[in-house]
Amino acid sequence: MSKFLASKFDVLEAYTPGEQPQDKKYIKLNTNESPFPPSPAVISAVNSAEVGDLRLYSDPVCRETRTAIAEVFGVGMENVIVTNGSDEALNFLFMAMCPKGAAFADITYGFYKVFGQLHGLDCEVIPLREDFSIDPRDYSGTDKTVFIANPNAPTGLVLTVEQIKGILSENPDRLVVIDEAYVDFGGESVVPLVKKYKNLVAVGTFSKSRSLAGARLGFAVADAEIIADLETIRYSTNPYNVNRLTLLAGAAAIRDTAYFDKCRSAIIEAREYTKAELRKRGFTVTDSKANFLFAKANGISGKDYYLGLKERGVLVRYFGSPRISDYVRITVGTMEDMMTLLSETDKILQGV
Ligand SMILES: *Cc1c(COP(=O)(O)O)cnc(C)c1O
Repeated sequence: MSKFLASKFDVLEAYTPGEQPQDKKYIKLNTNESPFPPSPAVISAVNSAEVGDLRLYSDPVCRETRTAIAEVFGVGMENVIVTNGSDEALNFLFMAMCPKGAAFADITYGFYKVFGQLHGLDCEVIPLREDFSIDPRDYSGTDKTVFIANPNAPTGLVLTVEQIKGILSENPDRLVVIDEAYVDFGGESVVPLVKKYKNLVAVGTFSKSRSLAGARLGFAVADAEIIADLETIRYSTNPYNVNRLTLLAGAAAIRDTAYFDKCRSAIIEAREYTKAELRKRGFTVTDSKANFLFAKANGISGKDYYLGLKERGVLVRYFGSPRISDYVRITVGTMEDMMTLLSETDKILQGV
């Protein structure tokens, strides 16, 4: 730490991204990326003429991309903001929309805690139930802005829209942010609720179900007044937050619904197959509705299972944090990836 860092950041513990190793080729099942390339429409949208136009700034209004997102979700462009990954939307929300602090689960997306610290917020950490499910009643006492990942990460467990409606209606003066990074793999989106509930923000990303993690594109959908506030923050930090190629890629990706449906169905099928196969091998596996499985091996520690797989060329995510130190999170790849995961798992279990 240099002597120039403001002392309020002395204790900031930065987010630790999953490994992106460059040393050898792994089957990468550790950061919930898609195993499939982006839609062919994305590849033709980002052509050489567009690359030539990189000399120009991107459209600060992001009109084309916001319109495309708004059309797919049946809302107006004024209900949508686009951001540099959904992490940026979350950053804006923590920065500006948590007047009384933030409330979130003890086991959830690790970035919530980091953003809370970064912005000096009073954070209320609400434990999940023993089985890792969320009890919606646990959120009724707080007047802090609520952040819930649905499906939750890394558990993959979902709340129903009815349960979320309960949280929204019991206190209309409190903002509720639903992080829908994984909703396309089997959860139910709350986007249709934004017309009725003025205290709801749905956050989405192109990183998982639309195969664009490297492009960095996220969005939030909410009442127009909330979006206008978030736009003020965006224009006060970086009006060109999303680059030209990503804006084009995003608009093309969201319009290609057929490709999107094909990819997510393949993931869901591979997830359910792998879930059943791991359970046959004595694993405890949550009923994940996301593009990952949260699994505990029988008779081998989470860390040893993670290390064993890594040695065999399969990378999964191990957190080692309280309550979940026996678990690993396995991204669902192609069926072929999952067959390799299972056969390497068998070798580890047999000690060979
Ligand atoms: C992956 C993820 C995000 C962030 O994704 P971006 O790549 O920044 O869009 C947000 N929330 C959760 C729960 C995630 O898992």
